[in-house]
Amino acid sequence: MEQRELVIIGAGPAGLTAALYAKRAGLDTLVLEKGKAGGQILITSEIENWPGTIESTGADLAENFRAHAEHFKAEFRTTTVRKLEVRDGKNIVTTSDGEIEAKAIIIATGASFRHLGCKGEKEFIGKGVSFCAVCDANMFEELDVAVIGGGNTAVEEACYLSRFAEKVYIVHRRDEFRADKVVADRAAKNPKIIPVWDSVVDEIYGDGIVEGVRIKNVKTNEMSTLDVNGVFMFVGTVPNAAYINDVVESVNGNWIKADCDMRTSTPGIFVAGDVRDTNLRQVVTAAADGARAAMSAYAYINH
Ligand SMILES: Cc1cc2nc3c(=O)[nH]c(=O)nc-3n(C[C@H](O)[C@H](O)[C@H](O)COP(=O)(O)OP(=O)(O)OC[C@H]3O[C@@H](n4cnc5c(N)ncnc54)[C@H](O)[C@@H]3O)c2cc1C
Repeated sequence: MEQRELVIIGAGPAGLTAALYAKRAGLDTLVLEKGKAGGQILITSEIENWPGTIESTGADLAENFRAHAEHFKAEFRTTTVRKLEVRDGKNIVTTSDGEIEAKAIIIATGASFRHLGCKGEKEFIGKGVSFCAVCDANMFEELDVAVIGGGNTAVEEACYLSRFAEKVYIVHRRDEFRADKVVADRAAKNPKIIPVWDSVVDEIYGDGIVEGVRIKNVKTNEMSTLDVNGVFMFVGTVPNAAYINDVVESVNGNWIKADCDMRTSTPGIFVAGDVRDTNLRQVVTAAADGARAAMSAYAYINH
């Protein structure tokens, strides 16, 4: 079986930062990534809270992260991790291409979009329902769209969509956004953005493609419709941790628990980034977790 000092699972901001720190510390480091290195920021329109860079596209920032890890000779492999286990006291990663034993492992597989679960959502994915403004916004040039959610991602992506769409409704279950004030203020000043407060989506309907959403006011129970051709879902995330089973302790549906040095409940297994049980999931926190996890892995391997 292939044997490595450190295996990092996932090449988003957390995994790429961990790779950079681990290589600089002299560890034999292998990064396993199922897709393109960069993680969620690859589909992020603009990032303006990565310190030292006033504004960057997500794609540019992702490329900088990847190039920086590669500069220090981190080794990358494109493969999907299917299972993580401790066998005879050894940490084993099972990938779609075979097994790897590692002295230390960093779990950095991030998170994916939560689905709303309303009628029509599944049926219209790719036919008007989207989870990625950067990927699909240009298909809605001069059309009306609805964004579902009220956090930073929902409001930022609504601003991005307004460059293309005629009108952008933001359907939110509360009467104010959860987004940071600077983000919410920007949306408030945007004439194309129309908040629909106290409302939830009941159904997405259409004939082959999306033609509208039926919404319910949670205060009055009144039902109404919005004539839109696009529905962008930004209602939270779920951890990419199904492959982990019970190898490490997790809470509330698989968010992985760690101490402040990113140590999980299992010796030699560390965690970093959005997949961790934490209350702030951003590029800067993922990167910071990655640095800590790498240094903890270094200490574990060397002592
Ligand atoms: C639309 C959008 C806008 C955002 N805007 C901002 C913003 O403005 N500012 C900000 O700071 N943050 C923003 N974020 C959040 C930020 O992108 C995340 O917090 C950050 O990317 C988390 O990094 P991560 O490395 O923990 O996980 P991720 O970025 O999710 O990366 C995880 C990686 O692991 C890989 N992976 C998953 N499972 C497996 C497996 N089984 N095997 C192999 N590889 C696997 C994935 O392919 C992915 O590349 C935004 C996110 C989105 C989606």
